[in-house]
Amino acid sequence: MLSSTSLFEEETTLFADLILPVPIPSLFTYRVPREMSSMIKVGARVIVQFGQKRVITAVVAQIHSNPPVKYQAKYILELLDDEPIVTARQLDLFYWVADYYLCNIGEVLNVALPAGLKITSQSRIQLNPEFEHEDLLTDEERVVIDEIRKHQTLSYEEVERLTARTNITKLIKSLVGKRAVILFEEVKERYKPKVVRKVRLAQGYLSNDALVKLTSSLEKNPRQQEILLKYLSFVPVYNNPDLNLGGLDKTVFSQDKSLSDAALQTLVKKGIFEQFEIFISRFDEIPAAANGPIALTEHQQEASRQIHEHFQQKEVVLLHGITGSGKTEVYIEMIRQVLASGSQVLFLLPEIALTAQIVVRLRKVFGDVMGIYHSKFSDNERVEVWKGILDGKFQFVVGVRSAIFLPFDNLGLIIVDEEHETSYKQHDPAPRYNARDVAVILAYMHKGKTLLGSATPSLESYFHAKNGRYGLVEMKERFGNAVLPAFELIDIKKEKKSRKMKNEFSSVLLDHLRYNLEHKEQTILFQNRRGYSPYLQCEECNWISQCTNCDVSLTYYMRMNELRCHYCGHKEEVPRTCPNCGSIRVKTMGYGTEKIEDELHVLFPEARVQRMDLDTTRAKNAYQQIIQDFEEGGTDILVGTQMVSKGLDFDNVSIVGIFDADRIIHFPEFRASERAFQMLTQVSGRAGRRAGRPGKVLIQTNNPGQPLLEKVVNNDYEGMYEAEIAEREKFGYPPFTRLIKVTVKHPDEQVSAKAARALADKLLPNLGLSRVLGPQPPLVERVRNQFLFDILIKLEREKINFKAAKSFIQEKVTDILTDKTLKSIQVVIDVDCL
Ligand code: ADP
Ligand code: ZN
Ligand code: ZN
Repeated sequence: MLSSTSLFEEETTLFADLILPVPIPSLFTYRVPREMSSMIKVGARVIVQFGQKRVITAVVAQIHSNPPVKYQAKYILELLDDEPIVTARQLDLFYWVADYYLCNIGEVLNVALPAGLKITSQSRIQLNPEFEHEDLLTDEERVVIDEIRKHQTLSYEEVERLTARTNITKLIKSLVGKRAVILFEEVKERYKPKVVRKVRLAQGYLSNDALVKLTSSLEKNPRQQEILLKYLSFVPVYNNPDLNLGGLDKTVFSQDKSLSDAALQTLVKKGIFEQFEIFISRFDEIPAAANGPIALTEHQQEASRQIHEHFQQKEVVLLHGITGSGKTEVYIEMIRQVLASGSQVLFLLPEIALTAQIVVRLRKVFGDVMGIYHSKFSDNERVEVWKGILDGKFQFVVGVRSAIFLPFDNLGLIIVDEEHETSYKQHDPAPRYNARDVAVILAYMHKGKTLLGSATPSLESYFHAKNGRYGLVEMKERFGNAVLPAFELIDIKKEKKSRKMKNEFSSVLLDHLRYNLEHKEQTILFQNRRGYSPYLQCEECNWISQCTNCDVSLTYYMRMNELRCHYCGHKEEVPRTCPNCGSIRVKTMGYGTEKIEDELHVLFPEARVQRMDLDTTRAKNAYQQIIQDFEEGGTDILVGTQMVSKGLDFDNVSIVGIFDADRIIHFPEFRASERAFQMLTQVSGRAGRRAGRPGKVLIQTNNPGQPLLEKVVNNDYEGMYEAEIAEREKFGYPPFTRLIKVTVKHPDEQVSAKAARALADKLLPNLGLSRVLGPQPPLVERVRNQFLFDILIKLEREKINFKAAKSFIQEKVTDILTDKTLKSIQVVIDVDCL
């Protein structure tokens, strides 16, 4: 670090090492222009030229005076921030993630920074719909603005061409500064501002005396007086001067045709009214603190007390509370306390749960200090949360996995709700991180604590809790005398024999559905497969609908009359006859949610049925809408994939029906039992959540006697854990080992196989046969025309130096990637793969 009093200050040239949001391992050194040198700070964003034409946003990681040895440093073009936008703590975390998950720091930055903070040459420029001050534009800017008006948006390059400048960042920055334009990434939705323009009385006019004087002084200007009176009729400040602070929406005036807009402007010019703006986000419509504080039950108080006690010694506590035990209220209590002590809190939720009920509940309690960070929100909303944390507006953030990358500086507590959820793991692109695990590190860096919560904890977390590494707190009662639902296993083999099934529906399930419809109670039906049927098959020649790009069958969608690949998105028309033999006997095989929904319409034409799966919830508020309809009783039967199992809290669900439990249990994967237990328990947990309305869960299976089902029925998490953990130990799977999956991809199967073999051969001598499995093709061998081979590496938790092993693996991967005889293979390393 240079001290500002350095004698050599005048002569030293500063250099900055920058993190560029690109997949390149090292930092890049750029030269700091002299006029920037007193302002530039670590953590600030800069704009630099990268490559021939690209201009990108980078973050300053270090400032020093050593020119790079191997290349001539280019100048930084632009400094975007006076104050760091990335904190020192965040940089530490980014480095940790890059190191642990074997990826580049730039890739971490790229995922961490919302696109709105990354101006790139791929950005598009849009007119700010709220732009007012045309008079501030320079001639050149006006040309750009006129062009945008014509075309809606312009790309960075188009602006470049238009202005014949080589570097337009200054120009763009100026336009952004004048609030004339907005930048957005092409793929993202456009920014719909949620700004409300308001006016209020200036401070000097709030006393009754001043108001009287003001009113009479406006006698000569009746139009202005009318405005004032209109304002006072909505905002009676003479009763309560505090009301003035909230002001009045300007549209109130503009909608009233008898009022003069000019008069309002005059009042503003005179300084009688002042204008201001507020930004509202979607959740601002939820009234803050609508409910008074909820008193914790004895069980909840006890859980809360135990959590505190464990935190005296431990960094992490696992709260294992059955579905409906009221974990949320325990969280709320914890959050309250930590916020009151002046520290920040982060509450992580799995992707899908976020738009749902729990956020509304939290919002009601915490109001404006709570920021929401969701991938379905627009980028601008995410930037608002980022900046809101930096400037202290948000002390508490509820968010999805990427929220761990926000600029916290004083985290006291991170809560990871539904910690077993796989959506905490990012699969693509790198960093392939698990936010639950990173949360523990992040809290530790802040000297804060982590609270993991679930009714069905991951084996890893429960293992740590059992071993005393984490504190363990259990809640075994449902709130308010509600009881866990009763189970009935339906033997569909028997039903089929006695011809009682109607397609996918057993007679028992049909009876219950009928009863529920008659008694106006709600039902949730669970089938963990979307589409109408997973494939089509020809009865003559056994042809099966297959994706042309992937080794997987095409799912049939009846309503769209389409075949779709769930791996690459490829779509086809449904063939009228078998493409292989021309037969017309092409049949749908198996069933998904669309088929269940379709059959329900036939079986119960009067029932109001909704479907909730990836296909019906793509639109922005669709998920929310389906939940709301169900909540308000507008839906009788909700059919869905595992989406229906996630943390939903409904009053009136008395039946949960589960199709095809066997397929979930026998999924060919070592975590199948754990996952099946979690999925079945979670979806069952949606039934009977209110006292006096016991719920029932009907599971259709070919084998009612199988041990895992028995454990689900008896709510025997412990039993599942004991059985599973023994297997894991025996076969050397997590939590006894850590898994690293290395996947080799290439369009030519031979090349891919050869490269994978070569890589395995390099790993084997040091790691040994028991630690290196494969190479073997994954379940789906070809995706998007790339042939895949997996090598699974198992590293014992205790014995192996994980860090050393990882750098060894990375080294060997680099060897393969740089091998001239293996052309253009891709290798993906996934640390702690799921
Ligand atoms: P979990 O997340 O453990 O499945 P929830 O936190 O959703 O359970 O709680 C289940 C239901 O019980 C919710 O509707 C919640 O509002 C209610 N509830 C929980 N604790 C209390 C309490 N102390 N007072 C009033 N209602 C409560
Ligand atoms: Zn055929
Ligand atoms: Zn495909």
